Amino acid sequence: MAYKINAADCTGCGACEAECPSRAIRMKGDVYAINPDKCTECAGKFDSPQCVGACPSDCISKL
Ligand code: SF4
Ligand code: SF4
Repeated sequence: MAYKINAADCTGCGACEAECPSRAIRMKGDVYAINPDKCTECAGKFDSPQCVGACPSDCISKL
């Protein structure tokens, strides 16, 4: 039950971090990463994963 950022395609824009209701997204070096232990897939808060919708690079997918 978590989403994952494909680091190779992440530009480090930070758009996803601001949208995450679980504070599961943090900068890791030059890119961002999702902590799978914290990601709830936005269940109970939103109907769709907010980070996926916010990412302009389309680099977030299901683990
Ligand atoms: S799916 Fe939701 S909870 Fe998980 S990282 Fe993305 S915004 Fe955060
Ligand atoms: S929104 Fe996408 S490109 Fe921007 S930091 Fe998050 S994963 Fe990387």
